[in-house]
Amino acid sequence: MVYKKCYICGQDTSIKKNLFKKSKTWDICSSCNLLVENKIQTFSSLNLSKLPKNRILFLNKNYVEKQVLEKCVVEMLRKTRGEEEILDFLFNLDNGSLSGTCGMAYFTNTRLRLFTFAADGIGTAKLTGLKTEYSAALSDIVNVEIKKDLLGNQLIITDKVNGAKEQVYVQDIPNTKCFIKKLKTAAENVQFPEKQLSANMEKFRKLKELMKSGAFNKKKLEEKDFLVEN
Ligand SMILES: [Zn+2]
Repeated sequence: MVYKKCYICGQDTSIKKNLFKKSKTWDICSSCNLLVENKIQTFSSLNLSKLPKNRILFLNKNYVEKQVLEKCVVEMLRKTRGEEEILDFLFNLDNGSLSGTCGMAYFTNTRLRLFTFAADGIGTAKLTGLKTEYSAALSDIVNVEIKKDLLGNQLIITDKVNGAKEQVYVQDIPNTKCFIKKLKTAAENVQFPEKQLSANMEKFRKLKELMKSGAFNKKKLEEKDFLVEN
């Protein structure tokens, strides 16, 4: 008996190969399926405004969100294989307002990745259905910005290997801005670890000074962002 290989881990699934039937692009094994469901749960319990929406292609909202989310998570796990910790993510990417694509971006402590896929291909697309794929080491990232043009808001990523290149369109400006900010900080921490270290040392020095002078008390300690703000 020949079984299909799992799209995420490459092991056998319990799904039989059928040469006459058009193959689904992302059959996955039961243990990877657990990982996917777990990740969907996590994403769903986070900021709801960050979840994928595809307004153009589907009428049924629940169908859209679940299918797009599932496809993104499967693709994401295939790329990271659970080895890297995902620090932040962004859904609602596409290749322009009329393109019929959707996708996501995310970064770990070492890499930034993004991808879009043909939305009409969910479940049936040839191979992976990926339209855009980008991956760069955080240590190579020079800049990330949003640029408005006729088709919408483009994400421009400058890295040391490819220079400045437009990658995808983003549909959610507030969450994208937040994502970019976190990404830049993560890239800076990788590229200039000594800068981060000296910033922490400086905070520590100030804190010690405050404690000495008596200006620092328990109430201030309870103000959550004290160390960050000062
Ligand atoms: Zn698997």
